[in-house]
Amino acid sequence: MVRVRFAPSPTGFLHVGGARTALFNFLFARKEKGRFVLRIEDTDLERSEREYEEKLMDSLRWLGLMWDEGPDVGGDFGPYRQSERVEIYRKYAEMLVKEGKAYYVYAYPEEIEEIREKLLSEGKPPHYSQDMFEEYDTPERRREYEEKGLSPAVFFKMPRKDYTLNDVVKGEVVFRKGSIGDFVIMRSNGLPTYNFACVVDDMLMEITHVIRGDDHLSNTLRQLAIYEAFERKPPVFAHVSTILGPDGKKLSKRHGATSVEAFREMGYLSEAVVNYLALLGWSHPEGKEILSMEELIASFSLDRLSPNPAIFDPQKLKWMNGYYLRNVPIERLVELSRPFFEKAGLKVDDEDYLKKVLEVTRERAETLADLPEEARFFFEDPEPMDIPEELKPAFASLREEIQSVDWEMDHIVKIFKKVLKNSKIKPRDFYMTLRRILTGKDEGPELVNIIPILGKEVFMRRLERALG
Ligand code: GLU
Repeated sequence: MVRVRFAPSPTGFLHVGGARTALFNFLFARKEKGRFVLRIEDTDLERSEREYEEKLMDSLRWLGLMWDEGPDVGGDFGPYRQSERVEIYRKYAEMLVKEGKAYYVYAYPEEIEEIREKLLSEGKPPHYSQDMFEEYDTPERRREYEEKGLSPAVFFKMPRKDYTLNDVVKGEVVFRKGSIGDFVIMRSNGLPTYNFACVVDDMLMEITHVIRGDDHLSNTLRQLAIYEAFERKPPVFAHVSTILGPDGKKLSKRHGATSVEAFREMGYLSEAVVNYLALLGWSHPEGKEILSMEELIASFSLDRLSPNPAIFDPQKLKWMNGYYLRNVPIERLVELSRPFFEKAGLKVDDEDYLKKVLEVTRERAETLADLPEEARFFFEDPEPMDIPEELKPAFASLREEIQSVDWEMDHIVKIFKKVLKNSKIKPRDFYMTLRRILTGKDEGPELVNIIPILGKEVFMRRLERALG
């Protein structure tokens, strides 16, 4: 059975890159009827926060990427938080030490750093090997460690040989012999390093496919060596390409909003974000661009992941958001837009009324946050305006004529025509002024769509005010 995982470190919000990684894993799991695991990589105690873990989970839920196993829902392979698995890593590190594939190091971090600097100053690559640490392993040092409650660091004996990765996205990647030296797998504070914890967990959680960003490619060399030390077949790796900003540089804060949370707050729909992210480094076999979650699941496959960098284009995301804004079921739009209306200080208790308003305003909005401003005049009288003198008689006669009409658009239009005919003013001036009276703006939805929703009472009140 396919088992994949998303393994964020809870050190910040869920960003576009992480969200895309989570999405690809989720789509693959659903497509293959496998399991999607959420693992929290929180062994960097200084940077990890429980609050961020909650936020990451919130963002994933909002995107609709529900996990089958994870810290909150449990599962057969838990615990799913690395900070709760430290004993396991220690046990596995000890196994490697016993087999002579790893060794204890009693040098302090400063001393390890000194070795590095010495190697560099001698023009050698800064690659550690066991013999370099022997002098530190003295009975005094061991005692010191014990007294201070420190554990010796554990270094992995990196075999000096070539490693070949057959990556689903990158193809064959050869890591040449001697490109790295021995490396730490357990620190003296008793915590594992990322590469070690990751492999132990992927092994024990029976992960079959690792789909992640290609910034992890160099880690994969270390991970392959660790799998080999445990005599385990590594999972299939798919390293997806980096996401770049429109300027071709790695996507970062400089490019504006990059967290899922920020897009949510700005009024993006999860449908649009999911659809857009899926196309960052993956493409539909027939080149379709508008794809629902169901369609994404049905058409997803790893062989359509592109090795080329993907460009994050906020304009295209916005365009896509506009598309979903106009096309989701109106009930969903009511529910999604309500908080935005409330935030803008507009009371939207009447659901039927809000529905009608949204039907006409969603045509012109790109985000949920645009809606309240587009729709404000449906809830509040606009600033009163003065009708130009030459148009006043026409609007005065409109007031007389319209008073007794049934509030049906075809009847209303007949009155407009009659007033226009009698007054001989230009239709354009008449309609533009009427629009300003009713909405306070020069642009907006068609008057024939606005007037029935506003209703007669509001229409008359705004006209009266304008006539003064
Ligand atoms: N915790 C790592 C990260 O946040 C996970 C990398 C991986 O998927 O192996 O990048």
